Amino acid sequence: MPFEFARRLQTLPPYLFKELDRMRDEVRARGVDIIDLGVGDPDRPTPPHIIEALGRAAADPANHQYPAYSGLNVFRDAVAAWYGRRHGVRLQGARHVCSLIGSKEGIAHFPLAFLNPGEVALVPEPGYPVYHIGTLFAGGESHFMPLLEKNGFKPDYQAVGEEALKRARLIWVNYPNNPTGAAADLEFYTELVAWAKRRNIIVASDAAYSEMTWSDRPHPSILEVPGALDVAVEFNSLSKTYNMTGWRLGWAAGNEELIQGLGRVKSNVDSGVFQAVQLAGLAALEGDQEPVRAMGRLYRERRAVLTEGLRAAGLEAFPSEATFYVWVRLPAGLSSAEFSSRLLDEAGIVATPGNGFGPSGEGYARFALVQEVPRLREAAARLAKLKFKK
Ligand code: PLP
Repeated sequence: MPFEFARRLQTLPPYLFKELDRMRDEVRARGVDIIDLGVGDPDRPTPPHIIEALGRAAADPANHQYPAYSGLNVFRDAVAAWYGRRHGVRLQGARHVCSLIGSKEGIAHFPLAFLNPGEVALVPEPGYPVYHIGTLFAGGESHFMPLLEKNGFKPDYQAVGEEALKRARLIWVNYPNNPTGAAADLEFYTELVAWAKRRNIIVASDAAYSEMTWSDRPHPSILEVPGALDVAVEFNSLSKTYNMTGWRLGWAAGNEELIQGLGRVKSNVDSGVFQAVQLAGLAALEGDQEPVRAMGRLYRERRAVLTEGLRAAGLEAFPSEATFYVWVRLPAGLSSAEFSSRLLDEAGIVATPGNGFGPSGEGYARFALVQEVPRLREAAARLAKLKFKK
C-alpha cells in the first residue's frame, strides 16, 4: 500500500539492534544455547507484597474508571514523602509530582511541552535513545554531548558551542548512567544547576537507576541541590528498582511549571496510569525495602562473576557501583559490531554493541546482568576461552 511514513518517522535513526536480533535468532536456530545479556529488563519477578496490593486495588470498582491525568494524589504524596526520606527534599505531591506510564513516556513527552521547533536539546551520547527521539518528535534538534571515559562519562556541557547554546532550552543528564554505569555526585548536580540557571536552560535529570547502586550511600538526586526546583525536573521509575518494567509506572518530580507543562501534554494524549497500578506503586515505595537491597547484593555478585570472565578474556570493564550494566572497553581495533557478532557466533552470548547508544559508544559493549549466577558463570567460562588479547 502506498502509505509513506511521515517524515518524522523517516528521520528516526535506524534501529541498530535489529541486525543483532536477527543474528541471535539465526544462531539460536542452529541449536546454540544463547545467554542473552542484551536488554536491560530485570529477570526476577516483582516482590509479592506489590502484586498483592495490585490484586486488592484491581478488585475495587473505585479504580475502574479514568484515573486523574496527573496521577492519584496518594501516589504523588507517596513520591513526595519518598524524596523526604531518601533525599531530605521537601516536595508537595500535588504541585511537584506527576505520575507517568513508565518514565519513558514522560521523557518522550517532555520536549513537546518545552521545546519549540528549531530549538535545541543537549543530549548525552552514548545514551538512552529516547532523549533524542522525543526531541525529534517535538521538531527540535539534538546537540549531542559525548560521554568520554576520561571525563568519568560526564558531559562537558561547558564546551558546547555558543551557536547551539543560544538555541538550547533543555539539557538531559542520566545518572546512574545507562549504558556506562557511571554515577554522579552532588557536586556535579550543583555545578549543573548553577550553569543552567545562568543560561536559563531546563535540566531534565533521568534517575531511572537511582536505586540501583551498591554503595552504602544513596545516589544523590539533583533535587537535593538548593535552588534545583527553579530549573530542574527528575524522572524516575519503579521499573528497575522493584522489577516492575511490565507494569508501566514512573514519575516526574521537580519544578512546578515543568510538571504542569508535562501534565498538559499528557492530558491531551493519554489518560493517566491505572489507579490500581499506582496503589501498588505506593505499596512498593512505602513497603519493606529489603527486596531492593537483596537485588542489589545479587547484582553485585553477578557483576563480580561476569567481570572475572571478561578479565580472563582480556577485556576491561568500567568499574561501577551502579546500574545492572557492565560497560566494557574493547581492545583497540575491534569494533563494537565485530565484537558483538563474534561473541554471539563463538560463545552464544548476546551483548549490546556500544555504538548502538551513540557514536562515542564505538569500541565498547554493554552487558546487562539479567541472568542468574550459574548462567553468568557459564558465560564467564565461555568468555575465558575467547581471549580478546590486546
Ligand atoms: N531511562 C533510562 C536511562 C532507561 O534505561 C530506561 C529503560 O531502560 C528508562 C528511562 C525507561 O524506563 P521505564 O519507562 O520502564 O520507566
